[in-house]
Amino acid sequence: MAYPLKSEEMLFSKKLNPPYHPPLFLNNCVIKSVKSHKHIGSFLTTTMSWEMQISNMISKTSKRVSALNKLKFRLPRTVLDTIYKSFIRPLLEYADIIWHGCTSCDSQRLERVQYECALTVSGAVRGSSYSSLLAELGWERLSDRRHVHSLVMFYKIVNGHTRQYLKDLIPPVVSVFTSHNLRNKHNLRVPICTTSRYQKSFIPYATQHWNGLDTAVRSLSFSLYKKHLMKLVRPSINKHFSYGPRYTCALLTRLRIGTCSLNQSLFIRNLASSPACNCGCRCEGVVHFLLYCPTYQQYRTIFFDNLQNLLGNSLDFNSLSESARIHLLLRGSTCLSYHTNCSILKLTQLYIVHTKRFATTL
Ligand SMILES: [Zn+2]
Repeated sequence: MAYPLKSEEMLFSKKLNPPYHPPLFLNNCVIKSVKSHKHIGSFLTTTMSWEMQISNMISKTSKRVSALNKLKFRLPRTVLDTIYKSFIRPLLEYADIIWHGCTSCDSQRLERVQYECALTVSGAVRGSSYSSLLAELGWERLSDRRHVHSLVMFYKIVNGHTRQYLKDLIPPVVSVFTSHNLRNKHNLRVPICTTSRYQKSFIPYATQHWNGLDTAVRSLSFSLYKKHLMKLVRPSINKHFSYGPRYTCALLTRLRIGTCSLNQSLFIRNLASSPACNCGCRCEGVVHFLLYCPTYQQYRTIFFDNLQNLLGNSLDFNSLSESARIHLLLRGSTCLSYHTNCSILKLTQLYIVHTKRFATTL
């Protein structure tokens, strides 16, 4: 039974002057005409824009983002990471395959929320590049995740893991339309799109990218298929980057990302008048601080002795190139175990603390 007072009508049109639409009646009552309507948590608007949907999602996350920020020095990075992925990111991805074709402006608004959370979780400072933060944390861009979610849902629909009415929307394969033995005969026929809005909507978008996948990938089991797609967009995860007390872990993160309180970094960000070091060196960068600054030589000698003891005979630290030494001190090595990498980062963190170079930071 339809209730006129609970019903609403919407006219979807992108025209500046939408055509006149006579009012609709139900049981002699005029049905209310609205500009937007919330349907199963998603906002539909007469202009077919997702701006309202995205604004709503961002406003829902704001309290959680500020709560996460308040915990930034109380909880370790791994816990903050879990809180973000469990309680904030899902809100930014609600029904994301539906509004995946949103404007780049709306997409960037969502990425900015993730950027704020990445700063909080990693302990990095504002001005750090988004790409560096994602690489540091092993997070994917939200837009990449939406792409994967779309293709995962498409796989489910194609393979009959969803309701039949969804499968009915899947376009037929190319071979249905031709008797020629074409190379792309197993591809699906992409619907003809006359507007970019339609082209970016779920079926045309997912069909096009489904066709772009290797047929062997399309034939994988669901879990392997999903894993394969995530691998394409997910940066490698370095669990040892989260090692250590929050304070020193955050300082090391800042050295790794390059936005730290060393004069070179401050100078680049217009926060210092000179990149020079107090020791007289022209540039106080990460390399100078870790390898050469004479001010900290006594701590460095102990640091490198302990490091060489840790590495044993397998690796001669001093014989490595400058960039390899910096890489090892800041990131460890993929050739070494998790525990050895943690021990290396622990020594670097101890050196940072002993130098007291960042004593007033954080
Ligand atoms: Zn110096």
